[in-house]
Amino acid sequence: MSNSATITKIDQSLLEKVDPKGELNLAACLQCGRCSAGCSMRLETDILPHQMNRMVLLGMEEELLSSKAIWTCASCQTCVSRCPMKVNTPLLVDRLREMASSAPTQDLEKIRIFNDEMLKSMKLFGRVYELAMMGFYKLRTRDLFSDLDKFPTMLKKGKMSLFPPRTRARKAVASIFDRVHRTRRAK
Ligand code: SF4
Ligand code: SF4
Repeated sequence: MSNSATITKIDQSLLEKVDPKGELNLAACLQCGRCSAGCSMRLETDILPHQMNRMVLLGMEEELLSSKAIWTCASCQTCVSRCPMKVNTPLLVDRLREMASSAPTQDLEKIRIFNDEMLKSMKLFGRVYELAMMGFYKLRTRDLFSDLDKFPTMLKKGKMSLFPPRTRARKAVASIFDRVHRTRRAK
């Protein structure tokens, strides 16, 4: 988030959309920054968790829905486990993702598809099988040829494998996904 951003209004409408029952504890945030200091994606994101929480209270919907932050969050739960007020940032991110997914711009749509393919791959293989994930992503976005020149280097450096990963946690990971889907359906 830019340090030069100016607060022009305080607007509770976004808070009411993302947290109508007050389960996320956003209003209790002390802005202490413990969440952001421990965030596993802090070097990749454009909005840190403590900034995101405050932006919701300020009604900055457009800025949040067009941010990288809601898609780079790894849902690792580190922020909530470090938070003295138990502010549930990962659940906030889920709700912002849902909002962004229902009104996608072209760029957001690509990010949404990437996220969708990554989660499918994790569910199927227990961790991401990058080659298949990128194949499906490229087919769905019809962006078949960009970045193809990087493929041999990634193979050579072991960043991508021709074969699916083998992990003993495969069934456990799939059951986590099933549990999440069941919980969402029950809401
Ligand atoms: S750790 Fe909790 S209270 Fe502190 S800034 Fe983050 S969300 Fe707010
Ligand atoms: S759940 Fe998301 S916001 Fe929270 S620490 Fe992990 S990556 Fe950062």
